[in-house]
Amino acid sequence: MSLKFKVIFSVSVLLMGISIVLSVMNYRTSVATTQTQLRETALPLSIDNIYGEIQKNIIEPNLVASMMANDTFVKAWIAEGEKEPQKIATYLHAIQERYGFLSTFLVSETSMHYYTPKGAIDTLKSTNPENQWYYRFKAKEVDSEINLDSNHLLDNSMIMFINNKIYDAKGSMMGATGVALKIAYLEEMLRYFHEKYHFNVLILDSRGKILLHNEMTPNYQTLLSPAQRSEIEAKIFTQTQKVFEFKSGSDSYLMHSKYIDGLDFYVVVEAKLDTFIQETKANFYKDIILSMGFAVLIIFIIFYTVNIYQRQLEYLVHHDTLTGLDNRRTFNEGFVNALQLFEKQSKPFGMIFIDIDDFKKINDTLGHVVGDSVLARVAQVLTQSVQKGDAVARWGGEEFAILCRNHPIDAIGASAKGIAEAIKLDAKLCEIAQGRVTVSVGVTVVRQGDTMDTMTSRVDEALYSAKNSGKDSVVYL
Ligand code: GH3
Ligand code: MG
Ligand code: MG
Repeated sequence: MSLKFKVIFSVSVLLMGISIVLSVMNYRTSVATTQTQLRETALPLSIDNIYGEIQKNIIEPNLVASMMANDTFVKAWIAEGEKEPQKIATYLHAIQERYGFLSTFLVSETSMHYYTPKGAIDTLKSTNPENQWYYRFKAKEVDSEINLDSNHLLDNSMIMFINNKIYDAKGSMMGATGVALKIAYLEEMLRYFHEKYHFNVLILDSRGKILLHNEMTPNYQTLLSPAQRSEIEAKIFTQTQKVFEFKSGSDSYLMHSKYIDGLDFYVVVEAKLDTFIQETKANFYKDIILSMGFAVLIIFIIFYTVNIYQRQLEYLVHHDTLTGLDNRRTFNEGFVNALQLFEKQSKPFGMIFIDIDDFKKINDTLGHVVGDSVLARVAQVLTQSVQKGDAVARWGGEEFAILCRNHPIDAIGASAKGIAEAIKLDAKLCEIAQGRVTVSVGVTVVRQGDTMDTMTSRVDEALYSAKNSGKDSVVYL
């Protein structure tokens, strides 16, 4: 691999690497921020909102149910044999109306009658599945409970019953009383939270029974192994507000549970992290594509710039900057090739050395800048005067060399004279130098056994003779 490609490859790897590392870091920070925001703000806030709603909707009915169970009128009415059922119906009706409950009820342990504001509408039997709630409640060692059920006598939708036990002075159970509430509003609220914030919201009783949840199946019940579930439930049922994380398969969840004192409930908000980092993920891919595009652009610019500099460097290595001619190094390369062709195929070639006469005087009288212009113009005239395929080079100073590769060998001397003539008669050159510019020229043609040194010495010698014979002349050796 060339140095150029090594450099470009290294820069590309570096740029792409930096882009990827930065994007990944950015992504991880965003994910961490999202998680922190969920953990510290969104989940606790939702729980608090739900808690507020529940308080509004359940705490008051709960207090009323408890008050009913302790009402001396209720206790006396049962103790006195449930005479005039109209009295209890009126009582239940008054409470229903006052608080806007769906219904109110009372069950007497003595008669097993089920009273509502409409009077005694049923007699409970342990064999009737619809009455099982009472027998279960009675068996429980609690004074009150909240139950979600459907009751065909009231409404077919889900209803929340708040049941309270009624005790006599000796502590024996006389029956149960309580209120019934439509829970459509709470359900609606849980659905709203799910739609708006993508949280699953559950309300669990202290034994882990799900009382309410939004339509989604609670993930922790369906996705987890029993061992994981009991671990999670242990975390939920800590009776303190708490956020924890769990993994199921490749999915991560954040859960926040809050115990609602007085109701013996837990509100659990569950967030699937993946849902919340979708946008971050999309941004990550956008970032990667953008930074890659940017890196490719930079690499292209570097490639382009390096190419320009490389071409300039190559030009400088092979050319003379003042005249634009080949330099001596390039001339020598051409010479070696010509010599090889001569040795292998006997293809002859010639060499002409040109030295400007009294150039020092031009410099001294007109200055170096004019001297430079003279050199440049001589180079132009030389280029125009040589045959196609010949190579013109600046040998050094005010000396030029021509490699005659495509020349009829006999005509080289004449060509050299023609070139010297062209310089002497060039009007533009005359104008620059404020007088005629003449040159001394040495010419030679390759001979058997020649090397670069022998041929250069010979042409140099020819040039020397031309100088010695009064300049402005051509000598063939
Ligand atoms: P002669 O007829 O014997 O060749 O005399 P000359 O004055 O041409 O030769 P000499 O070697 O004495 O002087 C050559 C001068 O060319 C000396 C040097 O300062 C000048 N020279 C060499 N390179 C450059 C150049 O690139 N620009 C200019 N302006 N002058 C240069
Ligand atoms: Mg000279
Ligand atoms: Mg000279």
